Amino acid sequence: MFPSQLLLSSKHHKGQILQPIFNELKVKLIENDGFDTDRFGTFCGETPRLEGPKITVREKCLAGMTYAKKRQGLASEGSFGPHPNSPFLSINEEWLIYIDLDENLEVYGRSISMELCHEQLSYKDEQLNSFLSRIQFGAQALVLKDAHTHAVIRKGIRTEAELSSLISQHPTWLLETDLRAHLNPKRQLNILAAGKDLIQRMGSCCPQCSKPDFSVVSYSGQLPCSSCQRPTHTHQFLEYNCSFCHFKLTKKRKDLRTEDPQYCHYCNP
Ligand SMILES: [Zn+2]
Ligand SMILES: [Zn+2]
Repeated sequence: MFPSQLLLSSKHHKGQILQPIFNELKVKLIENDGFDTDRFGTFCGETPRLEGPKITVREKCLAGMTYAKKRQGLASEGSFGPHPNSPFLSINEEWLIYIDLDENLEVYGRSISMELCHEQLSYKDEQLNSFLSRIQFGAQALVLKDAHTHAVIRKGIRTEAELSSLISQHPTWLLETDLRAHLNPKRQLNILAAGKDLIQRMGSCCPQCSKPDFSVVSYSGQLPCSSCQRPTHTHQFLEYNCSFCHFKLTKKRKDLRTEDPQYCHYCNP
């Protein structure tokens, strides 16, 4: 499914994060040396990201493939933002894309996590030490900005010595967790989850045209309650769809045959 040497267009050592799950497929990830991904937007705001991450990751992948003169390629892109249903919660969304121009193939992997390290602290707050231990400073790096202008003074701060020297030079400091993948361990876990999603989709082929990414697009049906046998609001079927030939298939879920009465509106109103 993948070539044995696969181009990865990303910065910040995402190859190191993703290589272990590609080892099982005997695929060696080759980082796109010299290709500048920062022009697709950065987290610190120097280059605004104009498109959503799904569009950006595709453009980045195609540009990287052109740069390296490859017909196949992989790219990764992440974003941070408010949860769509509860704006007070933050989420980290990671996308991966695999493009194969010879096979006319574009497959996305995606993972959304609420386990993230996206925090800030300013000179007006007094809990610097508890902030540093909470974010696991060291493995997790920091960005120092000016609290009034929000200008970036230093990125990638990882040692107490560097941090205290910067704070003494800049009394109106604002600290933010560095969101770049190699300096944000929680993001690394989510990039890995997006990689697993992509590999799973690549291994799931359409029974009609045998192209990959034959995936669940929606759910249907109602599982019966195990006590009263009435229908519950839990889905019973998985709806698969092929994005190439549009073949559809409905499969009964295998993990559950009936629903627990505690989720039944008759048994537990
Ligand atoms: Zn198909
Ligand atoms: Zn019931």
